[in-house]
Amino acid sequence: MSEASEQNPTPAPEDNSEQFSTMALDAEGESEGGKKMSKKEAAKLDRLRKKQELKAAAAANSGAAAPASEDPLAANYGDVPLNELQSKAVTGRKWTEVGKLEAGFEGQVVLFRGRLQAKRGKGKLAFLVVRERGFTVQCVLNVKPDVVSPQMVKYATALSTESIIDVEGVVSVPKVPVESTTQKVEVHVTKIYAISNAEPVLPVNIDDAARSETEIVKAEQAGEPVIRVNQDTRLNNRVLDLRTPANQAIFRLQSEVGMFFEQYLRAKDFIALHTPKLMPGSSEGGSAVFKLDYMGTPACLAQSPQLHKQMAICADFGRVYEIGPVFRAERSFTHRHLCEFVGLDVEMEIKEHYSEVMDIVGELFVSMFDSLNKNCQKQLEAINRQYPFKPLKYLPKTLRLTFEEGIKMLEEAGVNVDPLCDLNTENERKLGELVKEKYDTEFYILHRYPLAVRPFYTMPCYDNPTYSNSFDVFIRGEEIISGAQRVHEAQLLEKRARELGIDVKTISTYIDAFRYGAPPHGGFGVGLERVVMLFCALNNIRKTSLFPRDPNRLAP
Ligand code: ATP
Repeated sequence: MSEASEQNPTPAPEDNSEQFSTMALDAEGESEGGKKMSKKEAAKLDRLRKKQELKAAAAANSGAAAPASEDPLAANYGDVPLNELQSKAVTGRKWTEVGKLEAGFEGQVVLFRGRLQAKRGKGKLAFLVVRERGFTVQCVLNVKPDVVSPQMVKYATALSTESIIDVEGVVSVPKVPVESTTQKVEVHVTKIYAISNAEPVLPVNIDDAARSETEIVKAEQAGEPVIRVNQDTRLNNRVLDLRTPANQAIFRLQSEVGMFFEQYLRAKDFIALHTPKLMPGSSEGGSAVFKLDYMGTPACLAQSPQLHKQMAICADFGRVYEIGPVFRAERSFTHRHLCEFVGLDVEMEIKEHYSEVMDIVGELFVSMFDSLNKNCQKQLEAINRQYPFKPLKYLPKTLRLTFEEGIKMLEEAGVNVDPLCDLNTENERKLGELVKEKYDTEFYILHRYPLAVRPFYTMPCYDNPTYSNSFDVFIRGEEIISGAQRVHEAQLLEKRARELGIDVKTISTYIDAFRYGAPPHGGFGVGLERVVMLFCALNNIRKTSLFPRDPNRLAP
């Protein structure tokens, strides 16, 4: 016997709920008129009472409000009233994730919660697509006595898309696999309840927001009508936009990057620190900062944890990292700059050479990429379905080139570059292409930058002070990391700050930290959003920032 028929015993053919319920309310072995009941009548009444008890228990268990209808299966569907959702009971029911619904569940009754992504009614039959965290499954409601009533089908198809629903049903494996859903099984619904109804008209249709770039481009080229949701519309309605499978995957991937970063560093004896974000002055001279009033004193938001993480090294923490917000008030209207981003920062003592820092960078990122490719396949597939990309090419041992070698490669390719200026975005891209051609990698380190293009705290090279012990790291020709050995001597720091026009008084607490003995050290800063953007070859950093902040956007 299926679960559905157990809970809804087959009524006698002449059964009539309303008639029986009137009887049931009053009768205790006697009918309304006080006339003794026949055995047959008593048995009928008993059946009815049991049925009502089961119905009441089902409603209590599911928390469902019985719809105002005369449907004997009314307890199997309906809107759950708010008071049932105010943490009223712990029922112990077993929930299954949509993403886990696979052939192994065939024949089993499962219960899951998700959003109604799509619905299609066809008389006595309805198909629903239910989505949970980017995974989708097809659900079928087929009118069947004692299991699914016509009213239940009507109720399900009247629900608005994006409503949150609880579904209970039996898993089956269709002969022809469902193409349009991530899960290839089907669920034959026996119960369906709305937990939270979405408004019938949404500012962004999730199907439109999730449409693959390939499909859009194809339709555009064929001159066929197709909806492309533009970036501003997406960001204005980010809560809806984030529900697409690709976005679900992007932020799960981002979470993995952060977690991997921490795990790797902890295994190498780094400790997590939290530096202040309220600063008395700007941490790097010249760059734009967000100014604010700090109890009557002018202050700003930290544009890097740089100074404090170095001070932590002076305080003998040895190896530190931080994951935290970084604020930049630059008016950069580019695909890769935000006004607030997540910085993954590292600082460490070095024994002999800044290559010790580059060793950490290389090993950390190569093992991170390996881990993402191995453990986030579903996420990468989901991103790929909407935004097709080729897997990142990287070497087991990260390629290192000096800045001078990079310049030479560009010159040999006919690019005109000033050997002592920083590379512009276009030349960084070009060099990325040349490196890929020559070394078959899209991830590499460029080091020994000209001192003049690095911040005042960067250590000059011992053999040629025109250059510095610094590096940038690139993915697909775009910068994701800046790092360097830092100056650990107060006098040299003051000199370098003055040379770059920084008022030393404004950074005196930082410089003082180096007066009481400071170990040689170095570190690097990574932009989390850029790592994810470039690993997946996405074209805009706003795609990898949850609620992006840029010169034009401070909400939602
Ligand atoms: P860029 O030259 O790309 O503007 P930067 O040299 O200013 O970057 P750093 O200050 O060295 O960058 O910051 C270290 C890392 O932080 C960068 O490599 C990048 O990944 C990230 N980053 C820097 N600025 C931004 C920004 N405005 N938005 C997002 N990420 C950023």
